[in-house]
Formats: sequence, C-alpha cells, structure tokens
Amino acid sequence: MKIAYKRILLKLSGEALAGERKNGIDAETLGNICDKIKEIVDMGVEVSIVVGGGNFWRGRYGHEMERTTSDYMGMLATCMNGLALQDALESRGVPARLQTAVEMRTIAEQYIKRKADKHLANGRVVIFSGGTGSPFFTTDTAAALRAAEIEADAILVGKTI
Ligand code: UDP
Repeated sequence: MKIAYKRILLKLSGEALAGERKNGIDAETLGNICDKIKEIVDMGVEVSIVVGGGNFWRGRYGHEMERTTSDYMGMLATCMNGLALQDALESRGVPARLQTAVEMRTIAEQYIKRKADKHLANGRVVIFSGGTGSPFFTTDTAAALRAAEIEADAILVGKTI
C-alpha cells in the first residue's frame, strides 16, 4: 500500500484520552486510539505523538496559584498521559519511547531530537511529553515545534473522540 505520509506527528489532547468521562483516562478510549496507531505503524508510517494534559490539569485552572507553578503541573499531567500511551502501545506490541521536555530521568528519556529521529527511523513511536518545557505555552505550540524539528510530513490533531 502506498502511504500518503512517511512521518507524522499526532497531537492528542488530554480530553481525547478521557472519552466520555471528560477527565482522567478512559481505558477503552485509550485502547481504541492505540489500536488505530498500531494500524498506522504497521503500514510503515513513522508516528510521533505530542500529548496534552487537559484531562488532568491546565495552567489556567490554578486561579489562586502562581502561573508558572500551575503550568508545571500541566506539563506533569502530559507526562502521566504519555506513560499511559507508552504502556498501551507496548502492550499491543508497538515499541514506544516516552520523551519529556521536563527532565525526569527515572521515568522517561529527555527530549533529544537526534534520539527521536533514530527511534522513528527504527519503527518506534515517540511520545513527546512536557510540552515545550516552558510555562505560558500549550501543547499545541509543542506540536508545531516538534513537527518542525523532526520534519514531520503532517500534523494530525485528535481533540475529542
Ligand atoms: N503547558 C505548559 N507549557 C507547554 C505545554 C503545556 O505550560 O509547553 C501546560 C499548560 O498549563 C497547559 C497544560 O500544560 O494548560 C496542559 O496542556 P494543554 O492545555 O495544551 O493540554 P490539552 O488541552 O492538549 O489536553
């Protein structure tokens, strides 16, 4: 089969993982998404994912809180989603690597573009978490940024399922 895009970046919002629950992670929804990703990987497409965190926390939820602290909480939320995606993909036999823009050595690789390239070329799904690593941004910005860095052929967006 001829594939339209060799390398894609999929932006998955946190809400997309919550399904009808609206917050947290819905196991069935997560599983369905990962089944689809597996289909694409099996076609030979290099798949990277930027995952959001809005199903747990968004910077703007912390009304009384200093904004950068609240934004860091949001970035941590993206890492939780990233771990869930990595787990669900690997349980389907799809090799996946979680990278994060916020250093977290014991649970994820640090974001390194050259390493991400290597994983993708070797058929591993790369999940980018932690957004850009800077407060006052969103994971939509991170999606555009990472897509440019890894020279993705297309950005696909999954907001709600
Ligand atoms: N965030 C941030 N910098 C980034 C990406 C995300 O500070 O580069 C924080 C921000 O507080 C944001 C939260 O992480 O509200 C969750 O990300 P986002 O709202 O983009 O998640 P989504 O709406 O895609 O689920």
